[in-house]
Amino acid sequence: MKKRLLFLGPPGAGKGTQAARLCEQHGMKHLSTGDLLRAEVAAGTDLGKEAKAVMNRGELVSDALVLAIVKGQLGALGDGGWLLDGFPRNVAQAEALEPLLTEIGQPLEAVVLLELDDAVLMERMLSRGREDDNEDVIRHRLEVYRDKTAPLIDHYRQKGQLISVEAQGNIEAITDRIQQALTGS
Ligand code: AMP
Repeated sequence: MKKRLLFLGPPGAGKGTQAARLCEQHGMKHLSTGDLLRAEVAAGTDLGKEAKAVMNRGELVSDALVLAIVKGQLGALGDGGWLLDGFPRNVAQAEALEPLLTEIGQPLEAVVLLELDDAVLMERMLSRGREDDNEDVIRHRLEVYRDKTAPLIDHYRQKGQLISVEAQGNIEAITDRIQQALTGS
């Protein structure tokens, strides 16, 4: 199975849930920039203070800040595979990531795109009850996704790395679908 991965998809598509399941089952390292940022906010670090307001508005924190976080984690990726969840979020971050992975001799193997309808996304996010999950903020996060993140779909498709998976249905079935897509069976 391909084990150096990136998850792409709109907020609410289940990236975090599926990433955690896949990583647990295959001993891969799960790296979620959203989780890392929330930990900084909870710990009240300078970085967390800078990120908090931006996150609560549903906007993207600066590339410099996110890249600093990601760079700090690269040394701990190990050699059992990894899954980047929520990063890169725009083309500039993707372009910054590539040489970093080349440098550590661990190039990306596949990009998994989780696809889901907007109505289902909204419903899922409203039921999570996260601080940045009220209806207006969710709408804005979807807009930011379309504007900034969705161009990555073509970016990775052109590189021949994109694998699309239908992210509707029960959690276990979606995990199975992702695994099949990554083993090519
Ligand atoms: P997530 O848990 O991936 O939905 O991320 C929650 C929030 O953290 C996002 O709405 C952004 O404000 C911020 N965030 C997470 N990852 C990134 C990233 N790669 N670039 C910029 N902002 C990010």
